[in-house]
Amino acid sequence: MLRIRAGSVHPVTAPPIEDGAVLVDDRGTIAAVGPHPLVPAPPGARELDFPHASLVPGLVNTHTHLELTHLADKNAEREFARWIRALRTLKDATTPEEFSRAAERGVRDGWAAGVTCVADTGSTGAPLEALARLGGRGIYYQEVFGPDPAKCAASMEELEQALARLSRLASSRLRLGVSPHAPYTVSEPLYQAVADLARREGWPVAMHLAESHAESEFVREGRGPFADALRARGIAVTPRGCSPVEYLVQRGVVQRGTLCIHCVQVSQDDVELLSRAGASIAHCPRSNRVHGHGTAPLAAFRRAGLRVGLGTDSVVSVTDSSLWAEAAAAGLDGEDALRMLTIEGARALGLEREIGSLEVGKQADLAVFTSTILHHPPPSSSSLLTLVAGRVVHG
Ligand SMILES: [Zn+2]
Repeated sequence: MLRIRAGSVHPVTAPPIEDGAVLVDDRGTIAAVGPHPLVPAPPGARELDFPHASLVPGLVNTHTHLELTHLADKNAEREFARWIRALRTLKDATTPEEFSRAAERGVRDGWAAGVTCVADTGSTGAPLEALARLGGRGIYYQEVFGPDPAKCAASMEELEQALARLSRLASSRLRLGVSPHAPYTVSEPLYQAVADLARREGWPVAMHLAESHAESEFVREGRGPFADALRARGIAVTPRGCSPVEYLVQRGVVQRGTLCIHCVQVSQDDVELLSRAGASIAHCPRSNRVHGHGTAPLAAFRRAGLRVGLGTDSVVSVTDSSLWAEAAAAGLDGEDALRMLTIEGARALGLEREIGSLEVGKQADLAVFTSTILHHPPPSSSSLLTLVAGRVVHG
């Protein structure tokens, strides 16, 4: 057993507790939380004391690409379509061992930043393997690409092979899902096939959606840099006459619980469509800013009742994995920031019954930060202690 006392304890679903404590049982769940004198101290329990620190639920990063951790500062392209192509070239030059080491470093960097759960999208499987090897928590969405409708069956075969290989690593702590990458890399029949598979097999789904101006232009008018690149490869491009959100919601590709990443280029009608579809949002304000996509309408998402979590996106876009910096960029601070980084992120991933708050019976995923963290997060904002399922993974 492990008992952690701290200057303040923030359960998130209940008011903060001055001089509080949390008791973690041997199954890795929370056995007690409350004011220090009221939390049992069973004989033999290991005691840790952080008098000047805040104990909070582990942070939830709703969008990462851990297999790209080695590519921070490696892509100097400014224009988004060219940036995506340069990223593909960098990935093509990466060996499986490098992806594996990058993913492992990404998991550990997250733990050092107090992140105990990630929603990761990747094409190599390395992040799921690293999370399984190291004992992390999260959902790994296997990406699928294929802009040419004629190659839909081949993309599906490749996806199903990857899922068969990776599914033996899935557990109660690690889920496997699917990610049709984005409207400019996935044909309409491939979207349909992936959505059908996900519905049939119960896979969670995540997708990049309504991120750039170029994507909107591609979907609505069939023009712009993404359309030019596909036509140069001999692939026909169909103007859809609607927004990316309308395009995928109307076809039933965005389903209840689908994690929609970015959602910057959205109208109020799009926000309502997403809400009615039961989608969740991974809001990545720093990445959106770096790429010049603009600002996603967080207030409108919340008013519409959408479940929203914060995500850092890859370190190729944003060079560190600090979710506190993400919250600041989203205009949040204090308990509001903490709620979005924990319970709201957990809700966006459908994991709120297991993680996201300090409650008896929930998984003991916790982080301890200096007590100024809620209002003045330092730039690096590393945690003093991080636990996943009751196991110390950092500190
Ligand atoms: Zn991304």
